[in-house]
Amino acid sequence: MLDANSSLPHDGPTVIVELMGATHDVDRVFNHASNPHYGITQASEKPEQPPTIPIPYTTERFPKLTPSYATLFGNLNEVTTKQVRSHPGCYSALIPFGAGQRLTQDNPELAKDLETFLKSLGFPGSNHLQVARPTPSVVPPNRARFAKPFPYLLLNAPEPLCRLLLWQQTFAFQINSKHLAFNAVSPDFQVESWVILNLSGSFVTPEQLHMINALRTIATTLMTDRAFLSMTNTQLAKRGIGKTATERAMISISTFRLTFIPRTLEDGIEQPIWQLQGMPISRDLKTHLVWLRIIRRTHFMVNNILSLEPDKSPFGCVWCKAETHSSENCPLPNTNDWKGPTPAHEYLTPDPPVRASDSKKHWPK
Ligand SMILES: [Zn+2]
Repeated sequence: MLDANSSLPHDGPTVIVELMGATHDVDRVFNHASNPHYGITQASEKPEQPPTIPIPYTTERFPKLTPSYATLFGNLNEVTTKQVRSHPGCYSALIPFGAGQRLTQDNPELAKDLETFLKSLGFPGSNHLQVARPTPSVVPPNRARFAKPFPYLLLNAPEPLCRLLLWQQTFAFQINSKHLAFNAVSPDFQVESWVILNLSGSFVTPEQLHMINALRTIATTLMTDRAFLSMTNTQLAKRGIGKTATERAMISISTFRLTFIPRTLEDGIEQPIWQLQGMPISRDLKTHLVWLRIIRRTHFMVNNILSLEPDKSPFGCVWCKAETHSSENCPLPNTNDWKGPTPAHEYLTPDPPVRASDSKKHWPK
């Protein structure tokens, strides 16, 4: 049932689950090529290009980013969240490089700068576009640096501009002597992060044999977990995938991959992680979160001895918000002709979620 495969694009060694006797459903619905964390931008047909480019921007291809729900809507005030979720086609989410409390506070002109850049591209109808800075649900504490909310919202943008934004995704440019960059993503909640959980501890190594053993343990443990079997069975049956509970669990697990990702903590200590990814069981957020919780609460023990401890600290890149690399390894600034900001050479981790008890409520319910 399990095998190693190192031919997939990845940051570090990766192992995957291979389903013996794969059915046509596996090929049709689930395959590793559809993992959205490992794509590259400009993959679709080239859209209409800007009529004018008075502000040059980096036109290279970038790693495709797949933001989680929390990246898009975390700590965004409820009224805006509701509005965007019910009319996702009307907006584009612009997530600035290094987005968070400090950037928003220190750059009151950022929304205006983004507007100026977008208008400069010269698409007809651009005069009406607007960029709104995010208003938090709960005001983060002053000490918070990368606290959510992240996305600046673009509204009234002409259709060709929206198509260009999603095709290029990452824009890096210089305006008013400032280096800026942002990632444009659709707030249409159709593609959720494939990240299931992170594991950390002395057992985390780039040794493929250890990784295969760990993934085998995760797979075989879940294959006997009633809650996982039941939920996977229900959700895949709804989509007409598979025939039995066992087959449906195998189909789901066949999308799992375990990747070794280097990480340096703020005190300079190396603490890599193993990241488990797999295709979301449902496009419904609540259903998907229940499925994640089932997996995250499961105790995985290799050979009944080695406990695979989940890493519950926030993990990801504070600059581009990817969940698949740490901040010090962000690939964006290393892209050819990068015109965006140069990130600080610090080992930085994402801020924890802001809770109501951290600060006073800013937005009325
Ligand atoms: Zn990054």
